[in-house]
Amino acid sequence: MKRLVSWIAVLSAVLMMTSCAEEKPLSRTVTALDTVCTISLYDGKEEIALDASVHLLREGEERWSRTKAGSMISKLNAANGAQTTVDTLTYQLLQTAQEYSLATDGAFDVTLGALTDLWTAAEERGSVPTNEELTAALFASGSYKMILGDGTVTLMEGVRLDLGGIAKGAIADDVAQGLRLGGCTSALLDFGGNIVAIGSKPDGSPFHVGIADPKNPDNLVGTIAVHDRAVVTSGSYERGYMIDDVWYSHILNPKTGYPVENDLLSVTILAPNALDADVLSTACFVMGFDRAQAFLQSYEDVDAVFVKADGTVVATDGVKRVD
Ligand code: ADP
Ligand code: MG
Repeated sequence: MKRLVSWIAVLSAVLMMTSCAEEKPLSRTVTALDTVCTISLYDGKEEIALDASVHLLREGEERWSRTKAGSMISKLNAANGAQTTVDTLTYQLLQTAQEYSLATDGAFDVTLGALTDLWTAAEERGSVPTNEELTAALFASGSYKMILGDGTVTLMEGVRLDLGGIAKGAIADDVAQGLRLGGCTSALLDFGGNIVAIGSKPDGSPFHVGIADPKNPDNLVGTIAVHDRAVVTSGSYERGYMIDDVWYSHILNPKTGYPVENDLLSVTILAPNALDADVLSTACFVMGFDRAQAFLQSYEDVDAVFVKADGTVVATDGVKRVD
């Protein structure tokens, strides 16, 4: 049973992700995956390790982007109901996504591309989707409308994939794995808020990761100590749809087709790998506080920090707060 601990969501000073009085890492920042990605090496500080990491990152982006022509996902989305052979990594990712759809009772669903397209179009034209449009997009979504079999994927006609809730985590894991294979034992990856800590800092102390205040993202609600774990936050404060001066979350409830609006402002998940943390943070955000914290009871090695709409911050007892 995970015990929940309340934090008082007041912070007077903005804290840095790592303390300053120590040796600087070798870092590189690139724009990729529609966000800013930074890789910081605290040991094995070689440019070639950064080159290899960026290479893996770009490969993942090329494979799973839905906007880049020629990506595997663009190919699948244009297949018009035809069976398509996919590479092993894509097949495994879609299998995992489908398992998570089942485990989360549909809160997480990569087949909602028609819905995200609809809300993107709604933002462009400046009016919310009509009921007819929502019904049509809901009809074109649902995990069971993606059929996986022996290295092939068939999307029922009209169904489109959107890997926005899982790809950054999966790619962060790939990059972390590459670095570990190269002998790296101390590094920090930050792919647009999807953080992976490889080991701890060279002096053995844990990395410090700040959790943004969703109401004022320049501030933090707290800082946590992390050793060899992934930390991923989902919230609606950075990305979303602005329609008619109203802000809508970019995370959608696959059951209703509407942007999520509930008692949560953000969910941060700590897990052994970034893929799980990425999926679980999105899914928990959809579920809302009560359902999410009950759901997480069955995940032994997973912790969470919830920032609630009423300003309270609640963390499971495995979270080590350092401020
Ligand atoms: P971010 O990508 O901003 O870090 P998330 O990991 O929570 O945030 O993913 C949100 C993205 O995932 C959306 O922009 C959209 O592409 C996709 N998405 C939205 N709602 C869902 C959902 N219920 N299940 C799976 N993916 C979703
Ligand atoms: Mg996610």
